[in-house]
Amino acid sequence: MASSAEGIRWNLNDLFTAADDPEIENTLADCRARAEAFAKRVRSLMQNPQTLGAEDLLQALTELESIYEALGRVGSYAGLLYAADTANPVHQDLEQKVEQRSTEIHNLLLFFELEWLKFDDPVADRLLGNERLKSYTHYLRNLRRYRPHTLAEPEEKIVNEKDNTGRNAFGRLFSEITSALLFTLEIDGKQEPRNLSQMLSLLHDPDRTLRQRAMETLYRGLSEQGQVLSFIYDTLIQDHITMDRLRRYADPLAQRHLSNEIDPNAVKIMMEVTEEHYHLAQDYFRLKAKLLGLPRIALYDQYAPLGKEARSFRYAQAQELILEAFQSFDPSFRRLAAEFFANSWVDAEVRNGKRGGAFCASPSPKLHPYILCNYDDHLRDAMTLAHELGHGLHGCLSRKQNYFNYDTPLTTAETASVFAEMLVFDDLLARQTDSQARIALVAGKLEDIFATVFRQNVLTRFEETAFAARQEKRLTPEMLGKLWIEANEKYYGDAVDMPDGYRWGWSYIPHFIHSRFYCYSYVFGQLLVLALYRMYKDQGKSFVPKYLALLEAGGSVSPEALLRPMGVNIHDREFWRKGFEEIAGMIATFEKLI
Ligand SMILES: [Zn+2]
Repeated sequence: MASSAEGIRWNLNDLFTAADDPEIENTLADCRARAEAFAKRVRSLMQNPQTLGAEDLLQALTELESIYEALGRVGSYAGLLYAADTANPVHQDLEQKVEQRSTEIHNLLLFFELEWLKFDDPVADRLLGNERLKSYTHYLRNLRRYRPHTLAEPEEKIVNEKDNTGRNAFGRLFSEITSALLFTLEIDGKQEPRNLSQMLSLLHDPDRTLRQRAMETLYRGLSEQGQVLSFIYDTLIQDHITMDRLRRYADPLAQRHLSNEIDPNAVKIMMEVTEEHYHLAQDYFRLKAKLLGLPRIALYDQYAPLGKEARSFRYAQAQELILEAFQSFDPSFRRLAAEFFANSWVDAEVRNGKRGGAFCASPSPKLHPYILCNYDDHLRDAMTLAHELGHGLHGCLSRKQNYFNYDTPLTTAETASVFAEMLVFDDLLARQTDSQARIALVAGKLEDIFATVFRQNVLTRFEETAFAARQEKRLTPEMLGKLWIEANEKYYGDAVDMPDGYRWGWSYIPHFIHSRFYCYSYVFGQLLVLALYRMYKDQGKSFVPKYLALLEAGGSVSPEALLRPMGVNIHDREFWRKGFEEIAGMIATFEKLI
């Protein structure tokens, strides 16, 4: 049956009108000409920092910003067209062309940052202290942190180009292998082929034997690719270690901490506090075993549905639910979110060839965001839409920032989205009168939070041990499986049975391949939102302006400075414990319901 979101497609005319819109070529050509002129004019200025004035630097920055913005418009358009229909050869061509042309233009502009890094501190400080450069100081200061880790310009260019056939190629190989995987298993008496994401969603099926079969089939299929998947991962870890040496990073997490603008010590504390609370999840799993009538749950019971799932959830209903939940927080939230629906900034229908999952793209402060999702009439699709609209609101509210201050680092990038989900969840729970539906709702939310907090912590610990082991010798599938099980044992304890095949559980996680040490940002985002949401409940309406200011600031200050006015101290163990108090509270609510 067709989903209720059929026909809900986005309108990209604010960017360009078609893949063959001549404005695309004109923009690319114009960007290139401007980048060449920029390089000619600004390089010599940057090579004479003693005589460089604040006005010169300001002019250079505004021109640079404007080139990046124009380029971003083309890149976003090509990326969005491709995401909406990946199988269309016209879209594939455009995406490739734009990617290649953009790299060339970026390489022409690369010198600017590199020259800025060469400035001696007193010269840089003189410019950073100038009032006229005020809105660029965060960006310029942030760049300076990369001083000890940057190579010479020709080397950086070579790294950029060689990455396409090195690290990036291994990433593409991983994507191609995992997205082409087909698993065959018995469903309703018939042998059926399923892809990876369909296999993972079978783990939510009410039928226990089907869940078990799905998990066994999944890991058997992955084990058949085991040699090549571990070769890819091993190679990428070695590449990372090599670049750490060349760029003089003290440990494998250092570059991620730097781009997250976060003090490593705060992450260390957060992860330790998370481990202190693994028992919360274990208690819940024991409870779940009782509800399922089992002595102990197996891994494939982890996401078994409890209670009674809400019946089909139509797109129009989701829209109304979200707008009302946003309205009760602040009318401005509703107003902004309503624009996404009214102006067709959302592509929601399920189509062949469309990218899976969901995302929100916020190209630049000059443009509004766009949302892609695959709305299939489940409650979780409504939650996903709420999540992406949260990103969308963030992208709209921070449009008062300039291009360089627009994006937030990963650590705070998930704040608005997860907060929006909480708003909608709370609203939905308050309206729900059927106790079985309430059980389903709360259990779903708790399991979702466990997956974001505890599981992502486990993933990060696994990565740490894999990197440490790679310092000694090449990683085999056996070694990776052993490290994976060890990291998971700490989490599941004796509350969950891990089937033997689970030693392949590491092998399909895209973050390990595409963005190493990304996963702790999820822990950060979820715990932060739990604490912020508690503040909202305690403080009521007086919380709203502080929260709006946080979103409006975009990436103009570091996460720590952004959160300080909210009374958040990320170096304080007690702050992180607050998030777990909230989780414990939700478990108590759940116990009362059952
Ligand atoms: Zn998100």
